[in-house]
Amino acid sequence: MHLQNPALLQTRCYINGGWHETPQQFPVNNPADNTLLADVSDGGANETRRAIAAAKQALTGWKALTVNQRSAVLMRWYQLMMENQDDLATILSSEQGKPLVEAKGEIAYGASYVQWFAEEARRIEGDIIAPPSNDKRLMVIKQPVGVVASITPWNFPNAMLARKAAPALAAGCTFVAKPAAETPLSALALAVLAEQAGIPAGVFNVVCGSDAAAIGGAMTTSKDVAKLSFTGSTKVGKLLLSQCADTVKRTSMELGGNAPFIVFADADLDSAVAGLMASKFRNAGQTCVCTNRVLVEHTVLEPFTQKLIAAMQKLKVGSAFEEGVTIGPLIHASAKEKVARLVDQAVDAGASLLYQAKLDGSIGDNFFPPTLLTKAQPDMAICREEIFGPVIALQSFNEEAEAIAQANNTDAGLAAYFYSQSISRCWRVGETLDYGIVGINEGLISNAMAPFGGVKQSGFGREGSRYGLDDYLEIKYLCLGGLG
Ligand code: ADP
Repeated sequence: MHLQNPALLQTRCYINGGWHETPQQFPVNNPADNTLLADVSDGGANETRRAIAAAKQALTGWKALTVNQRSAVLMRWYQLMMENQDDLATILSSEQGKPLVEAKGEIAYGASYVQWFAEEARRIEGDIIAPPSNDKRLMVIKQPVGVVASITPWNFPNAMLARKAAPALAAGCTFVAKPAAETPLSALALAVLAEQAGIPAGVFNVVCGSDAAAIGGAMTTSKDVAKLSFTGSTKVGKLLLSQCADTVKRTSMELGGNAPFIVFADADLDSAVAGLMASKFRNAGQTCVCTNRVLVEHTVLEPFTQKLIAAMQKLKVGSAFEEGVTIGPLIHASAKEKVARLVDQAVDAGASLLYQAKLDGSIGDNFFPPTLLTKAQPDMAICREEIFGPVIALQSFNEEAEAIAQANNTDAGLAAYFYSQSISRCWRVGETLDYGIVGINEGLISNAMAPFGGVKQSGFGREGSRYGLDDYLEIKYLCLGGLG
């Protein structure tokens, strides 16, 4: 891997401001060709406990800084991320597989949360409440929750972490991160820049390791961890929630989605296709807000399908560093097997394979071709499970109420999308969809200014926006009595 600043490539845990070797290591591979990128320190429960202790010790000093001081350090971290954008993107693409252009976009996107919360840090405000009697004054102040532990997935190794660390640090919390074992290098690179930005020892720690349950267990059982912020599968989220019950931890859960994408007959079909391409194929279909089910009003099914095939034919599958590539590999072999199984099951159950790209014979094992199925049915696994791959399964509907009922018929409630040119329908459908995020005539919905998060079993808590700080602040009520 060629970097302008090779010091960004670190392979040891970052604890209490130092790089920490462990007896064991685990391999991190490039998913495009399964070559070894690095052997990384295999941290476990001991390293996690050490990091938590460091974060606890650092808390007093960090939360005592003024908001201006914390803001300045975070702003410097943001600037360093942008100055090192190319190297951070190279590391990200190497371990995660997404096209370099997308990786650069992720670095800018992750950094934008650090910038946003550097600014929001100055706006932590309380209230003065009218008292029930004149001898009292009632006040509300907001304080950092304390030590925050985070567990993040491999699909956005930079941004998912930045989105949690930035508001936590802005609020005055200290932080212990556990990145996914597939992609620890991006998190460690952020630690290098954290140190350079002047984030004090112990405030931001990274424990990487192959035994997620050991690291997670040390986090969830610790009384010194006040809050766990998790992004990942609903299954692991439920497990962590149950583990957090014993110490009554605050939690934020960004869990799986099952995003519907509805195309009404009154939609602008060209922009609907463009929106679908963006929401479906980013990161080869491996995002929690990726379109998972496409519902098209039957009267426009045929022209929409033709336009979609034309757009899909322009996708270029390949490794992250090839010119013009838009679809990288899936993260590993079992991810590919799952996508292949969903496609096979759908075809066996009556779906039609309308289009599938031909892949170059020399391409790596983890690539899956962009695929279009039609005649999908709501009860097929491909419509109920997260696909997490470059596959579209089209369903058709006859009227609005049917589409909404279908769209809402899931335990998930993260993102939904629909296209319509009718302003009254836009309001009506936007308000009726049971989702935390609704893209209306828009396929790219996530940015630092907006609250990102789900309802139902997609979790709770919001990342980004002015609401994003609330996840890391406690409300304290002060009652000043005895006033004459
Ligand atoms: P995905 O299917 O995207 O890998 P996971 O929920 O399995 O989703 O992984 C998301 C994050 O949760 C990763 O950092 C992973 O290592 C971590 N994780 C997985 N299992 C556990 C567990 N039992 N305890 C704590 N963390 C876990």
